[in-house]
Amino acid sequence: MSFASLGLIDPLVRTLGTLGYQAPTPVQAQAIPAVLAGRDVLAAAQTGTGKTAGFALPILQNLTMQAQQVAPNSVRALVLVPTRELAEQVHRSFAAYGAGLPLRTHVAYGGVSINPQMMKLRKGLDLLVATPGRLLDLYSQNAVKFDQLQTLVLDEADRMLDLGFSRELNAVFAALPARRQTLLFSATFSDQIRALAATLLADPVSIEVSPRNTTVKAIAQWIVPVDKKRKPELFMHLLKKKRWDQVLVFVKTRKGVDALVDTLEAHGVAADAIHGDKPQPARLRALERFKAGHARILVATDVAARGLDIDDLPLVVNFDLPIVAEDYIHRTGRTGRAGASGEAVSLVCADEVVQLAAIEVLTGQTLVRIDEAGFEPDHRVPLTDTRGEVVKKPKKPKKPKADAQVSTVDVRFARC
Ligand code: AMP
Repeated sequence: MSFASLGLIDPLVRTLGTLGYQAPTPVQAQAIPAVLAGRDVLAAAQTGTGKTAGFALPILQNLTMQAQQVAPNSVRALVLVPTRELAEQVHRSFAAYGAGLPLRTHVAYGGVSINPQMMKLRKGLDLLVATPGRLLDLYSQNAVKFDQLQTLVLDEADRMLDLGFSRELNAVFAALPARRQTLLFSATFSDQIRALAATLLADPVSIEVSPRNTTVKAIAQWIVPVDKKRKPELFMHLLKKKRWDQVLVFVKTRKGVDALVDTLEAHGVAADAIHGDKPQPARLRALERFKAGHARILVATDVAARGLDIDDLPLVVNFDLPIVAEDYIHRTGRTGRAGASGEAVSLVCADEVVQLAAIEVLTGQTLVRIDEAGFEPDHRVPLTDTRGEVVKKPKKPKKPKADAQVSTVDVRFARC
């Protein structure tokens, strides 16, 4: 199948050729004709499936073919995303695919000055990519108007809800014209997402490109059980032993991110941090340094890493397991993208067994455990069964009594 056979116009097909895209991915093959035809779309698609081009290409085409004068401060298409990084990444994709098309596009997110964004909006835009909070700020200052809005995209809708944007989203929806095309992309489908889809979409085309809540198949995944306090030491050991070259490391907290970067730098390993306390320019610089190979290691929190577009990343390390199991899928989605193979290694201590079990339930697979010699934990990570649940072992009663009850180990209080 070719991009031209999906109905894309020559300038787009030529640009895709220069970008080296030879054939549409499954989500693109389904989404492009539907969006071109003006249909609403509900798509279950994770990062790495090519979903961005799946909505960006037909939107660019529709905006070009239905050319119209944009009134000051108006926007014709709006893409809402959860984070600044994803906003930048999605806007970069629109700019790359739309190179040569006569369209005005821009990106708006918080944490940076609002004035340049207001200036850009003054002449009107064909397309705006925005995070919900900043969009509402712009709207409340009359810097953006939606009278001409024809298409709305919610990208990574599940993540927007996880990050608590539901109030902002409802305020945005209330301001939009009722007659419009709406596209909803989400990696996972909670009841909340289904309810959102039911209120927003009219007779949508449903697209599901990978089984619900599974990680990308090409990724080899395993865990290394370890005591919590020895995680930095184990990470340094594996880095050296396995000659890891380019690693994206996920850590639970901002403090933890900085501590690991300090440890790495103390050992002479170039590393950068990316988390919510860093100003946006610093985050983008860190990402560029990592992509260019100037820093071998990028240490990130979940929120900050959302939307990082790094092709063919060989390895993701979960220094800590995520609190929310879905984030495991988002994290591992950073490797093995667009069909490349990848590895995801998790350093797991006994405290994290409940998170481990939740991940196994969500992904429907039990993660292989590989002990690292010399790092076997004193506090063992309780076993999880094939349903991903924690296997509770009966405690030995101190003094056997005839009426003694068998007690169970409560994993929530297991200590590392
Ligand atoms: P996404 O899922 O939209 O984040 O895209 C994942 C990666 O796949 C991005 O780096 C895209 O540049 C790349 N990509 C998207 N579509 C194609 C395609 N048809 N052929 C090759 N690479 C693609």
